Amino acid sequence: MSDILKVLEQVPGWKAIMGLPKRLKELEDRVAALEGKPAAKAAEACPLCEAPMKVTRVEDDPVFGVMGLKEHTLSCTACPHTETRQVDPKKQR
Ligand SMILES: [Zn+2]
Repeated sequence: MSDILKVLEQVPGWKAIMGLPKRLKELEDRVAALEGKPAAKAAEACPLCEAPMKVTRVEDDPVFGVMGLKEHTLSCTACPHTETRQVDPKKQR
């Protein structure tokens, strides 16, 4: 039996095959990381650095506030980028 293993170790690529389970684990981790991305994207992401953005201010919309619309100010958690967005609370569930 040990003779067979010795022979196998001479075969080019055998070590790579033996390393496959580890390689598979790495690939699984990468897939899991990639699958996790769309969910992170669904939350607000900074268009400049893709870090998550947080709502830092909620005010009545300057134009449509009388109709109940809100203006959310979003700030990036990693860079100075901020942006505003119009939100209709009635359309949020
Ligand atoms: Zn940013």
